[in-house]
Amino acid sequence: AKIKQVEFVKSSARARDCPKDERPEFAIVGRSNVGKSSLINSLVKKKEFALTSKKPGKTQLINHFLVNKSWYIVDLPGYGFANASQSMRTDWSSFTKGYFLNRDTLVSVMLLIDASVPPQQIDLDCANWLGRNNIAVTFVFTKCDKVKGGKGSRKDENIKQFQELISKYYQEPPPWIMTSCVTGLGRDELLLHMSQLRNY
Ligand code: GDP
Repeated sequence: AKIKQVEFVKSSARARDCPKDERPEFAIVGRSNVGKSSLINSLVKKKEFALTSKKPGKTQLINHFLVNKSWYIVDLPGYGFANASQSMRTDWSSFTKGYFLNRDTLVSVMLLIDASVPPQQIDLDCANWLGRNNIAVTFVFTKCDKVKGGKGSRKDENIKQFQELISKYYQEPPPWIMTSCVTGLGRDELLLHMSQLRNY
């Protein structure tokens, strides 16, 4: 499941511009500041890895990175910028909706959720939309180092609450993984999970 090689392939402005390819892919999405860049960097183990511009309203693009010449990591724009206008939020959903609904090679959306805060409405909206549209999702809880582990911790409570709040939109509870870019928690599990989904 190791990542040996990563190459940037393409930035696309819409779903139909994405690479015409049979190889499987995983889309990585989440609220701005959820830890998406940190997670992708920790997966590919390259600190200097060039990712999308994080400035709101700038490069709103679908970015394809080919891994080991056999599968793609797809970096989608973050949503929920604190200072974004309503129209920008609407843009995010229409822009990405087309991708989620039409990309046949999409194996699973990796939806990043910050485990150090209680469930956020915008994350619930995103998770609910994906569930209602029967799009395969894996919940990747980030920043799991920020709140102490153990029984009844706030992190566990946040994760449990989130799962309860989205459950009615999913026929089966989606797989989920706890991660931390600080401790490396979940990194290998995530890579293994993606390799199992590819070979399924
Ligand atoms: P992005 O906007 O989703 O790409 O988020 P970044 O990767 O830039 O991370 C946003 C902030 O959260 C930065 O200050 C990171 O250092 C911090 N961060 C990201 N991942 C983790 C994590 O696993 N643990 C902790 N404690 N902080 C994190």
